[in-house]
This record gives sequence, C-alpha cells and structure tokens, in this order.
Amino acid sequence: MLDCSRQFFTVDEIKRLLDQMAIAKMNVFHWHLTDDNGWRIEIKGYPNLTKRGATWVNSSFPDNGKTLFYSQDDIREIVRYASDLHITIVPEIELPGHALAAILSYPELFCVGAEIPKLDVSDFWIIYNAVGFTPPICMTRPEVVKWMHSVLDQVMDLFPGKFIHIGGDEVPQHAKKWSQCSSCSKLMKLKGLSDNDMQKYLAEELRDYVGKRGKQVIGWSEMYNGGAVPGTALMDWIGGSPKALEANCPVVASPTFCSYLDYQETPGDPITTPRSSCSLQTVYQYDPRKGVSPDKQNLILGSQGNLWTHIARNEREIQFCLFPRALAVAERGWTELEHRSYEDFRQRLQGQFTRMQLQNIRFNVPEPECRLETKNGQDPVLTIHNPAGDVGQVFFSWDRSPTEKSAMRYKGPVAVPRGVRSVQAMTILDDQWTSQIVKQEIPAKQ
Ligand SMILES: [Zn+2]
Repeated sequence: MLDCSRQFFTVDEIKRLLDQMAIAKMNVFHWHLTDDNGWRIEIKGYPNLTKRGATWVNSSFPDNGKTLFYSQDDIREIVRYASDLHITIVPEIELPGHALAAILSYPELFCVGAEIPKLDVSDFWIIYNAVGFTPPICMTRPEVVKWMHSVLDQVMDLFPGKFIHIGGDEVPQHAKKWSQCSSCSKLMKLKGLSDNDMQKYLAEELRDYVGKRGKQVIGWSEMYNGGAVPGTALMDWIGGSPKALEANCPVVASPTFCSYLDYQETPGDPITTPRSSCSLQTVYQYDPRKGVSPDKQNLILGSQGNLWTHIARNEREIQFCLFPRALAVAERGWTELEHRSYEDFRQRLQGQFTRMQLQNIRFNVPEPECRLETKNGQDPVLTIHNPAGDVGQVFFSWDRSPTEKSAMRYKGPVAVPRGVRSVQAMTILDDQWTSQIVKQEIPAKQ
C-alpha cells in the first residue's frame, strides 16, 4: 500500500514502484488515493475535490499551492501499466473518516448543523496537531449518497479489480455524532441504530452498491467494530481477523508490528518513525496463517506491507522505507513458514543489493553486528559480522567515526587495544550505499 494523499507521487514514480513490485513478485497494489491531506483522484462532476481538495495551503512545504492529483487518463495509464506487469490495483477511497479534503471541497458532505473544522487542506501533522483524527462525513443526506455513488461508479469504471477499499478506520468516538444530524437521526430512529452502529450501516450499504457490479468492499479493522459485515473483506491492521474468519469474510493480513514500513527498521534510521519498530527479521518471520484453523486458511488472501507517507516525503525516502523490507513481505507472502529461513534470505539479499544499486534504488543498508569476546581474562577480541557479504565491506574505528580516514577495513577478529572505550562500525557498499553507524561501548577492564 502506498499513501498518495499525505504525499503525492507522479505517474512515473508510481510506474517505477510497480516495476519494483513486479521484480519482487508482488501482484496487488493497494493505492490510498484520498485522505484528510489530499483528494488525489479526478471525479467528474465534482471538480472541487481536485481543486481545493488536492491543493495544500501552507507556505512551509514545497508542494504549497500546487494542485496535485491523478486525472482519469493518468489512472487508466497506471492501471494498464500495472496490468502488463500482472499487478491488480485496489483503489482506496477513505470513508466515513479521513475525509477532510472532501468535506472542505464540498461542505454539504458534512452532517446537518455540524461545525466544519476551520482548516485548509495541508500536511498531516498540521491537521493532526490541530484536530487529531477528523470528524466523519454525513451518511444520509441525499447529496452525500449521490456523491458516494458517483465516486464509486467512477472508481469501478477505472479499476477492473474485484476489491474496492472504503477505508473505515479511525473515526474518533467523540466525533460519532450522526444522531445529532437531522438527516442521519431520522434513519437511525427508523432502523434502531446507535452512533456506534453507523459504520456497519455504511459498510452494508456500500457492499450492496458495489456488489451489483460484482465488486467487493474491503476495509480496515475498525469497519468490523460493530461486528463482521458478511460479504465484505477485512484488511487487518489492529485486529479483527478472528471476527472476520468466523463470519467467513476474507482477510488481508497487515498488522502494524510486521507490516508498517514507515516504522523504524533499525535504531537511528534517518527517515522512519522512531516511535515504533518493524525490523527486517520481524517482517520476514510473520506468518499470516498462524493460529488459523485449516478450514479457514483459504480466507487469508495474503499479507501486505503498508507505507504511510507523513514521514517519507519523496521517491528516494519511500525507497529507503520499502527496501529491503518489501522483499521480505513478498517472500513471506509466497513461502510457507516451514520453508523459510531468515539466514538464507539475508544471504540472498546480497544479490538484491547489487541489483538495486544498478537500478539506482535507495535501500536501508544493513548495519554490521559487533561482538566482543573475552576469554580467560585476556584482552577482549572484536568480531564483526558483515551483513553485505561479498558485495560490501565493513569499516570500523576505535573511539571515533568509521567515516574518518583513520578507519580500518574489517578483515577478521581483532584484539581490542588497551584503553579504548568504544568501537564504531558501518557497512559500505559504495559511496552512496552506506549503513547507519553502530557504536558499541567497551567495558573498562576490572
Ligand atoms: Zn448526517
């Protein structure tokens, strides 16, 4: 999944990403096209979605004032390109939350009497810091229903795949105020629904609407908060799979701890978010079928990696977040756990590093692993594992950075000189492809 709302990527950038997916044998591209921070898909009859809704107003960002979206011709071109690579696209239109760009473009999408946040379409952090997760759209005003149907009709015309992602996540409890809307409250009284039931109601409505054209709704975990919605599929990021499987609903597994590629891969990464970690090994060793009974295993459609882009801001940065972890996502998707070996995967990655260097793909070069051993009270000996094997070298230095001229190339175990307090090391493939520096303290001799 690539989030193109928080950060827009050009048609050529998307094509290059699809090329990399095809190399890794990934066959589904989940395209996050709308959110609070930008409506990126042209919808005929609603031009403001891609005028106001796709234009950031904040002078501190390079994209300030630019109107960035995909025309329907752009989308057809990308769909064709993906299809040639045997990749199906799952488009995502976020409803009913994460829809501020749409609400600001067409205020009539909001509940009757509700106060629209006084904000512009802008960067994730500006909106998040101002209001947190944004209030959801109205679900019943005739103009909203007409809009939703028009959007979905056009999305279904553009994307030939079976699944239509309708979001469904992160509607804050305090913002569930459909019962205060003169339009929504009528329906709620009629059907005996509470504010908490309304997302399930929306999922059922949209399931029936897209179902008429043979399509299936898929949504994030919270879409099932009010119970599973038979006939839809779940994309599990914070749970919900047992509920889905119980109701025979298919599941795409993408739990945060092993699937969120904007999370930190190794401490000190320059781009990923340090608040949460998602190491290469964790990604690789995840088994989406673990604990699933044999008769339900066919409901696990696969597992995916998600890249939100409030952190990664350009193509080089998304490459850094994606690789090599996306290669681990691909392998776990195609290989049963009992046939996987992380050590073997790491060994084979060395060839992928060379390939990515040749293709000028940025990736997170793995850091060396330093080990200190002291035997029989003698001076400690330093051993360093070089994760790049034959395609890279490890440089290290005592008490200073391995980038300095005095750094040494690691060739084998080395005695630690008396009096040094730390070793610092890094993996170097070439000038452009270097790992973070790792530092290990050397305990003073007793
Ligand atoms: Zn309403």
